[in-house]
Amino acid sequence: MPLEIVRNDITKMTVDAIVNAANESLLGGGGVDGAIHYAAGPELLAECKTLDGCKTGKAKITGGYNLPAKYVIHTVGPVYEDGKHGEKSLLESCYRESLALAKKHNCETVAFPLISSGVYGYPKDQALKVAIDVISVFLLENDMMVYIVIFDKAAYKISEKLFSDITEYIDDNYVDEHTDYRRESMRMNTPMAPMQASVGLFESDLCECKAMMAEEDLDAKLKHIDESFSQMLLRKIDEKGMTDAECYKKDNIDRKLFSKIRSDVHYKPSKPTAIAFAISLELSLDETEDMLKKAGFALSHSNKFDIIIEYFISKGNYNIFEINEALFAFDQSLLGA
Ligand code: ADP
Repeated sequence: MPLEIVRNDITKMTVDAIVNAANESLLGGGGVDGAIHYAAGPELLAECKTLDGCKTGKAKITGGYNLPAKYVIHTVGPVYEDGKHGEKSLLESCYRESLALAKKHNCETVAFPLISSGVYGYPKDQALKVAIDVISVFLLENDMMVYIVIFDKAAYKISEKLFSDITEYIDDNYVDEHTDYRRESMRMNTPMAPMQASVGLFESDLCECKAMMAEEDLDAKLKHIDESFSQMLLRKIDEKGMTDAECYKKDNIDRKLFSKIRSDVHYKPSKPTAIAFAISLELSLDETEDMLKKAGFALSHSNKFDIIIEYFISKGNYNIFEINEALFAFDQSLLGA
């Protein structure tokens, strides 16, 4: 998946480049900056000293030294005052400039912390939104795997309103709590009708004949096999007037995976992938169920992931990044390949 939100310490990320939320001196500081310098070793500071600082909204690149990452891209986020001092456009610029540097150095994988969201005081949910917006625009035109690294759970919070809306929706729809398990298991263990004790010669001939008929019937049925997942997907893409690239980029699916689906008519995607396509194509709930069925899946009310997906589709909100934010907030796996 080209954009992924992960919970980790950025100094542990094995990627081509990690981004540092630095200050204008580039001579090290606290927070993520301190952690990166500590993990990279003193050679990083020595190289930073040669760079002559960096302006807010701009970015500069160095080696990664003792880090698992090959490069560190240092960018300086804005200090948040009240949101009326150009903070947003400066923060957007940090992401854009860092991505441009990463591209220039042929990086295929890049990890960002939530720039400015620590001591610089940018509200975390808004900082995350800026990150997601700029990175997703960049990924429409560029092939890169980008991680947004969230350090701790508390650092990440979707808006209270969305969170409580989804919580309510889950509460209303979660069947798990309402299922009578004792009854269910009694029903499952009900003994089946006793089998016929003996089968005579005539009966066995009859069985063979029935089996042959069943086989012919099966052959006939297989000849009329329904449209497959991949056929339905390609038909829907055409119907929506989208190009393949528009579809897989919009839904955050890896290009290679898409070409596999395109070339194999019987390809069976994972459930999150199938759902991601439904979201990208902006299918209704019924159409989504249809598409999932083609891949052997269904949306279930016994599962938070499914209920969250259902929530967004029923609200007509097909923004995959917002959906992933919500899935992340509820500790669910994210959509994509
Ligand atoms: P800024 O000065 O730009 O606000 P900070 O370093 O204070 O930078 O914080 C930026 C974000 O980085 C914060 O959300 C903080 O929780 C996070 N952070 C701190 N240490 C790490 C780390 N080791 N890995 C990833 N993120 C981190």
